[in-house]
Amino acid sequence: MSAPSYPEKASGTVSGKVSGKVSGTVPGYGDLVESSPDALLVVAEDGTIRMVNAAAERMFGYARAELVGSDHRILLAEGYRNGLQRLFFNLRRDAHLHGAPDVDADAADADTAPVEAYGLRRDGTEFQAEVAGSIFITGTVNAAVTGTATGEGTGHGTGHGTVSMIAAVRDTSHRPENDDSLREAMSLLSATLESTADGILVVSSAGEIAGVNNQFLTMWGIPREMLATGDDEAVMGFVLDQLRDPAKFVEKVEALYADPAAESHDNLEFRDGRTFERYSRPQKVADQVVGRVWSFRDVTAAKVAQDRITRAMADLAEQSAQLTALAFRDGLTGLSNRQLFNDRLASALAGPRGTAVDVLLLDLDDFKEVNDILGHHAGDQMLIEVGRRLRACVRPNDVVARLGGDEFVVLLVNSPEPETVAARIVDSLRVPVWIDGTMLRPSLSLGVASINGDAVDASELLRRADVAMYAAKSAGKNRYMRFRPEMMKTLVDRNDLEAGLRLAVDNGQIAVHYQPIVSAVRGTVTKVEALARWVRDGVLVPPQHFIPAAERSGLIVEIGTEVLLRGCTELKPWLLEDASRSLAVNVSGVQLQHGDFAELVLAVTESCGVDPRQLVLEVTESVFFDDDCHVIQQLTSLRTAGVLVALDDFGTGFSSLGRLQGLPVDTLKIDQSFVAMINTGTEQLPILNAMVGMAHGLGLTVTAEGVETAAQAGYLMNLDCDSLQGFLFSGPQPETALQPALDRAARAIAALRGDRVPGNR
Ligand code: C2E
Ligand code: MG
Ligand code: MG
Repeated sequence: MSAPSYPEKASGTVSGKVSGKVSGTVPGYGDLVESSPDALLVVAEDGTIRMVNAAAERMFGYARAELVGSDHRILLAEGYRNGLQRLFFNLRRDAHLHGAPDVDADAADADTAPVEAYGLRRDGTEFQAEVAGSIFITGTVNAAVTGTATGEGTGHGTGHGTVSMIAAVRDTSHRPENDDSLREAMSLLSATLESTADGILVVSSAGEIAGVNNQFLTMWGIPREMLATGDDEAVMGFVLDQLRDPAKFVEKVEALYADPAAESHDNLEFRDGRTFERYSRPQKVADQVVGRVWSFRDVTAAKVAQDRITRAMADLAEQSAQLTALAFRDGLTGLSNRQLFNDRLASALAGPRGTAVDVLLLDLDDFKEVNDILGHHAGDQMLIEVGRRLRACVRPNDVVARLGGDEFVVLLVNSPEPETVAARIVDSLRVPVWIDGTMLRPSLSLGVASINGDAVDASELLRRADVAMYAAKSAGKNRYMRFRPEMMKTLVDRNDLEAGLRLAVDNGQIAVHYQPIVSAVRGTVTKVEALARWVRDGVLVPPQHFIPAAERSGLIVEIGTEVLLRGCTELKPWLLEDASRSLAVNVSGVQLQHGDFAELVLAVTESCGVDPRQLVLEVTESVFFDDDCHVIQQLTSLRTAGVLVALDDFGTGFSSLGRLQGLPVDTLKIDQSFVAMINTGTEQLPILNAMVGMAHGLGLTVTAEGVETAAQAGYLMNLDCDSLQGFLFSGPQPETALQPALDRAARAIAALRGDRVPGNR
């Protein structure tokens, strides 16, 4: 089969009817072309119109100048725009393959046959047309084409030249077989195909591309020219190049072609990150599979959104896992927290009968002082270190929790020797703890409570451990004790004490006793210390018992105010006699925390008519180590009003001489434990010397507490201690017995001054 050529071989498609322009002589080729009733167009390989005849101008309603140089597709209705290019390619291919042994001549004829199309006029109207084409070569010609249009010879072979196509377009609207409804259906189909967002590709059973919509080309980025070449392999290569897993795609395609009736669906991942959803279904004509329709949908945005959601969900799950973990951890020590401990204890108690459950509750001894004196950072470091040591004392699966503050708890389930663990824990603090260069020797008190088959619930078990822990503290701290039922009494007593104290405060049963303080220099009583007294059911409750209970319950605020008020009221006459006399009142740190403490004190002195300069407030050193400056401010403003401040019990706890400087105090009261060190009065006690010397150096006066013997008084007087207080002079007495006490004290100091033995340092 040879490729059609114009005009000789195109006779089958170009009507022989000559219309209009008739020349009297034998017409030249140009005349023939011009007078052809069919529109003739010379179209270049890239689709550009090179030449047209007069019929083309008439048929399409364009001037020749408008057509030449334009893309031929402007002359074709939508849905038919690629037809001509395809025909062109087929013609070309046939021209080159002509004579080749493996050419399917029938197939070649079929795809170079004239095509049915719809032309598009300049005014937008469409008309049915038939387009026949033939190849037309200029330049070196060795093609299997008769170059009649250029007058070149016929021949076979190979060569190069500019290949164009002559397209003969015939308006076939007049044909009776023109089927409007078919056309309408075609147009609808084509419009539908072009308006869908899916890319559609139809492949014949022979594996050739039978059709595509524009969206398909856009989605895959396939150049229209490439498609026009009909080189399906090139198209396939182009497609595969873009895929992340081309082998898998090829495998799918092969599987589908092996099973023409199959339908399939999957996602294609692109190298550039896009994702297409792919559907493939057989194309059938009257139940006969004639090809396969592939449709592709770009689901990248949906996939990205989906991925994001999946990732967000995963992040959320991770965060919630972290939060859950955090919810059960103690933030400072990393140990379990109370909630986790409670959960574990509950499940241990719900375990099989006979499960041994031991709770070891512990609390650091005097931890508050570490916090107060060394600061919260040191306190935190201490708790972290204790947590670390506790963990090292137990098995990996035992729960060690921090319940809050300096309180820890260990849960042992089926531990063979809980008491050994308790002893090991107490022992673990024997090795000193170093914090910020300071060596500390903390200790702890631990209570053990266990169940072994008997029905005890979680809160009761903890209560028992708590009672045992308090018993350990009362027994001298730094030890563990196992719960015994008798210990409950202590707890009951403690609660009873607080309840009784509440009543006593409400009923005005807190009394005040007064203890004289003598001036070693002046040899007279210059001060009286007011001390709270509680007689309960005829028995005197020692302040060391009820003051801590009052501080725990907050009752100390009311008690302190009561003592101050009574002291001022009862001592007023004595104070008025001599302006150099003063009344000393003890003040707890709890009272100083109250914002209006200073105002309250001044209101009391004013209402009682006592000069604030005759009032001494005794505080312990620990009140100064709270983080806020509130306490300092309160005391400073009181001192501004003339009130004096004494540092009570100096030398106990974490007292340090170095810290004295800068504190708003006037007097140092040396704790009785130091005075008790003086036995004969001839011993060397450099610490006492240092205390008095340092206090004087800082401009403070010194009072020694607990002076019981003349030797002690003599020793202290030789140290130039300013004032002395103790049973040697007088114990605390009620107001009714104060005068004899004052007289006794005055006599005692006078006698001492007379007996004074010098040179006893
Ligand atoms: P403190 O302020 O150091 O009071 C001195 C304590 O030593 C008093 O004990 C007193 O009776 C006792 N004492 C006095 N001379 C001697 C002596 O020669 N030998 C011995 N062994 N002891 C002597 P008291 O009255 O039992 O008070 C104990 C502590 O209770 C007081 O120590 C004080 O810290 C506190 N306290 C007492 N009354 C109050 C109060 O109204 N408010 C506050 N916040 N604390 C108070
Ligand atoms: Mg005191
Ligand atoms: Mg004291």
